[in-house]
Amino acid sequence: MRRRVILLGPPGSGKGTVAGRLKTEFGFDHFSTGHWLRQEVAKGSALGRQAGLFLERGELVPDELVLALVKAALSQTQPDQGYLSDGFPRTLAQAVAFDTWAEVRGLGIQQVIYFECTEALVLSRITGRRSCGNCGRVYHVAMIPPKQAGRCDECGGELVQRADDTETVVRKRFQIYLRETEPLVEYYRKQGSLDVVDASQPSDEMMTRTMTLLHR
Ligand code: ADP
Ligand code: ZN
Repeated sequence: MRRRVILLGPPGSGKGTVAGRLKTEFGFDHFSTGHWLRQEVAKGSALGRQAGLFLERGELVPDELVLALVKAALSQTQPDQGYLSDGFPRTLAQAVAFDTWAEVRGLGIQQVIYFECTEALVLSRITGRRSCGNCGRVYHVAMIPPKQAGRCDECGGELVQRADDTETVVRKRFQIYLRETEPLVEYYRKQGSLDVVDASQPSDEMMTRTMTLLHR
């Protein structure tokens, strides 16, 4: 079941939570461009300095930077190893460029799982969201609490609220999602690789549905 899979959906749709569980419970090779970018910002690297302002404002980091990051990270990946992407691609330009790059390496996308979700739900989820500053695992103060308050179950890292998880920034991110990322749903539907998860469900049910789709 080592497929090459993309999780698509608005911020707060729960795809990051599902991706994290697929990684720890089933050993999926999961990556999150958002988590990588936040790590670069924290390190103060050249890339982090270029990306920082975009992250803070809830805007998309330029395609070239993100594409370079993903290509470098997948350069050693073997086709049968698979990958599970959360948060990439996010623009049509990223999708088209990645398809071309991946195809010649035998790393073409096999399945896209779309987490369908309304703005109201996104807002309620994101304000309670906390994530591990170390490994990036995602929690929710009420819906997915950690075993020990403020600490990651996985690695013991400190749980933090992201600077871009305020209501104003989340609304803006949702608008950007609708404009830049949602067109990818049609793009992948036309390729015949799209499956849909109802992301208004609790995370356990989304997890079950995603597993069923991955096993198809
Ligand atoms: P969310 O899905 O909740 O928005 P992410 O961690 O996926 O959270 O992304 C956080 C931020 O990182 C985005 O708002 C954007 O600034 C940047 N980012 C992540 N992935 C991409 C991408 N593929 N293209 C451009 N910017 C990205
Ligand atoms: Zn952690």
